[in-house]
Amino acid sequence: MTLHIKTLLVDRAKLRVAIIGAGFSGLCMGAALRRAGVEGFQIFEKASSLGGTWRENVYPGSGCDVPSHLYCYSFEPNPNFSRAFAGQEEILSYLQHFAEKQGLFAHLRFGTEVKSARYDAERAVWSLTMESGELAEADVVVTATGQLNRPRRPEIPGLSDFAGAMFHSAEWKAGHDLRGGRVAVIGSGATAVQIVPSVAPLVSRLYLFQRTPSWVIPKVDYAYPKALRRAFERVPALLKLNRYLIYWLLEPRFLAFSKGSLFAEIFERHVRKWMEREISDPELRRKLIPDYPPGCKRVLISSEYLSALQRSEVELVTDPIERVTRDSIVTRDGRSRAIDTIVLATGFDATTFLAPMSVEGPGGIRLEEAWRHGAEAHLGMAVSGFPNFFMLYGPNTNLGHNSIIFMVECQTRYVARLIEELSRDQVRSLEVRKDSMNRFNLAVQGKLAKTVWNANCTNWYTTAEGKQTNNWPYFTVDYWWRTREPNLEDFVRAVSPIGGSKCSRGSADPAEPFRAAGED
Ligand SMILES: Cc1cc2nc3c(=O)[nH]c(=O)nc-3n(C[C@H](O)[C@H](O)[C@H](O)COP(=O)(O)OP(=O)(O)OC[C@H]3O[C@@H](n4cnc5c(N)ncnc54)[C@H](O)[C@@H]3O)c2cc1C
Repeated sequence: MTLHIKTLLVDRAKLRVAIIGAGFSGLCMGAALRRAGVEGFQIFEKASSLGGTWRENVYPGSGCDVPSHLYCYSFEPNPNFSRAFAGQEEILSYLQHFAEKQGLFAHLRFGTEVKSARYDAERAVWSLTMESGELAEADVVVTATGQLNRPRRPEIPGLSDFAGAMFHSAEWKAGHDLRGGRVAVIGSGATAVQIVPSVAPLVSRLYLFQRTPSWVIPKVDYAYPKALRRAFERVPALLKLNRYLIYWLLEPRFLAFSKGSLFAEIFERHVRKWMEREISDPELRRKLIPDYPPGCKRVLISSEYLSALQRSEVELVTDPIERVTRDSIVTRDGRSRAIDTIVLATGFDATTFLAPMSVEGPGGIRLEEAWRHGAEAHLGMAVSGFPNFFMLYGPNTNLGHNSIIFMVECQTRYVARLIEELSRDQVRSLEVRKDSMNRFNLAVQGKLAKTVWNANCTNWYTTAEGKQTNNWPYFTVDYWWRTREPNLEDFVRAVSPIGGSKCSRGSADPAEPFRAAGED
């Protein structure tokens, strides 16, 4: 028995895990591995610092739209959040503090973009090639590359001829002064809703170019009084209770996504009434209140957006953009508006999971090819044909009503358990069974068909072929239940031949890069 435990610990310490991405997901995975006693992991991050979404989205007004006490790790609550919905800087410094506290910096490899991952079935090893040409090997790959970080740029004639400043909201030009200028915001989604109220008071003109309106609900945001923050700090149970209450307040909102349901109807009536109250001009109301059910496009959360659109210096433009010139935007009605700065608040390519990274399983099977009709995975984490390969915030795990961090925690727990399983003596690989994965995805797609996400609107959850690859179509509590412990019957477990211990693992020293392929 003692011997068995010893073998297990040795194995676990030596297992090499490559985590790709250092946002909320990658850092959470690192912490979970450390808790499980797996120290031989590295977190490869293409940028020069951590944070993912919260490193990139530094536009004015950037912040979460899920209350901060739920938009953080359950095991690392932060009593000091300054307000109900924290801003970008605060979330980013929370993540930096987290990485420090969890001892993750020794595992982080910045400026290292993983270009490709290739599985060598004979040795049960993944070979990674970095953008720089550097090579590395790992026993397990966990991707944490996010869904919302490949900026999508609109195809508008003349856009590249624009001579003023132009940037995507996720690539905000540091130090760019908008004061007194004429600004065009193209796109009217979750980002524009944060940018417009922050920028409108600074500029001489702000044009919001909207293709499709979105449903907007109020954001009950407020600063936490010092006394309450102190109470959260001193009474951890209060903080926990607060998180619990927020979770259970948000969770029932999922009911509104059920197409044609009574709850969806009540929700729509309620939101419509609020929007009508907020917008005094009937013409503006007509332009801003959608004709599709709430949720089909992401419901926007802001108490300031609709009033910002009614400021004298702001104009909502719904006529389609025909072209962009050196210094203006021309709409189809022939009107030309002079512009100094264009902000592309046009969202992300969210359905091209893992792109542009290439992932090749045994026998040369490419993930891109396996996903030619749209990405899918077992519980969003494992794909048949790709052993020892797991994803965080993968296909069909995005939410419209609750915190992604909740999902990510479920995933890291599940993946850490599989990695523990892999560290058992003789277990070479774990690969999800095709029938388990197919059964799961058939049910998911069946459920998605009954949601508002496939009503009469376009949204970033749906591929050009019409497959919904992003959203989780059940309650999050359901996801928690399904992922609380991996069902090993869903996996094919390959074992090493007797005597051939798989334990030729690499270095357990996190500071030492994994042994490069071909090196000794
Ligand atoms: C503006 C904005 C606001 C949001 N607000 C909320 C909210 O309020 N609530 C909510 O639940 N969700 C929100 N989201 C969704 C948000 O993306 C997730 O909550 C969460 O941050 C995802 O974390 P992640 O680590 O999975 O991905 P990301 O934060 O996207 O991090 C992925 C990381 O992987 C790195 N990477 C990618 N490819 C490679 C590669 N090949 N090699 C090396 N590194 C790579 C990237 O550089 C990045 O650092 C928001 C998203 C945006 C864009």
